[in-house]
Amino acid sequence: MPARRSWWAALAAAGLATVLGLAGCSTAEDPWKGQTGPPRVVVSFPPLANFVKNVGGGRVGVISICTDKGPHEYEYNVQDARALRSADLFLVNGLELDDKRFTNQLHENSGNAKLVYLKLGEKLDPKLLIKEGGELDPHVWLGVDQSCAMVEQIRDALAKADSAHAEEYKKNAAAFIDRLKDLHRSYAQKFDARTNRKVISFHDSMRYLAKDYDLDVVAVMELDPGEDPGPGRLRELRNTAKEKRPAAVTVEPQYNEKVVDSFVKDLAEGKDKLELKKVMVDPLETASAEELKDPDWYLNKMQANLDALLEALPGKSDK
Ligand SMILES: [Zn+2]
Repeated sequence: MPARRSWWAALAAAGLATVLGLAGCSTAEDPWKGQTGPPRVVVSFPPLANFVKNVGGGRVGVISICTDKGPHEYEYNVQDARALRSADLFLVNGLELDDKRFTNQLHENSGNAKLVYLKLGEKLDPKLLIKEGGELDPHVWLGVDQSCAMVEQIRDALAKADSAHAEEYKKNAAAFIDRLKDLHRSYAQKFDARTNRKVISFHDSMRYLAKDYDLDVVAVMELDPGEDPGPGRLRELRNTAKEKRPAAVTVEPQYNEKVVDSFVKDLAEGKDKLELKKVMVDPLETASAEELKDPDWYLNKMQANLDALLEALPGKSDK
């Protein structure tokens, strides 16, 4: 995949461009224009931007490196290097979601000696991490305890960067954690009434969410996000579905769902007549810059995910 690798070369060139920019040669727009702060925080992808927004209130400037393209598809953009050059904090997920792919290099090339670089996912209590096939699952922002713990880390990082407003960050973080926990509590009850909680997940993103709501992810459509399963794997997936009888298969707004459509059709028309509901679950790996302005983006999206899953799973409806 040469296209994916070529950003390394661009990054080296951009290091030079950034230096030239500081010398006054660049006319590119300041990425921090219109932002509040300091503190100025760059995050790798949308959920972290939303958490920072909630903890920082209107006080903190935040830029998300990934917006319309998620961390599995990062492509180098010179504005990212510019944003980091004058940032205070660089907050990323880690666990090989974003760090090995691009944030380690961006950090190394930032030319910003004051920049504090934190991998929030890696600082979680190991008890909160799910290991699968020897590797830690990085999709921690889809779990409630994991998200709350990351919000606490953000609170502490902001308090350290801007101690004059530490109390404010503490209050904001506590209020946001309450809302995260409330959402979880109210939905955990609703899921208890579902009689079949087996699902097939589109990409391998749902383990933390599944754990919170006692869902059973019996298979994953795309092992490598964006790469459709071949005929052999599709056969395997069909066999797993026939054997385990899941109620639903998830699709994601970031990826083409054609492969799921034909999978669902094949099972419905086959002799087993297995009816799989197709359900949209957004793993929140992307968001437009416009969506990220809404402080309730994360909570609203999670609620929509949970509503969609509840709707798709059979059982007593208690809505
Ligand atoms: Zn993912």
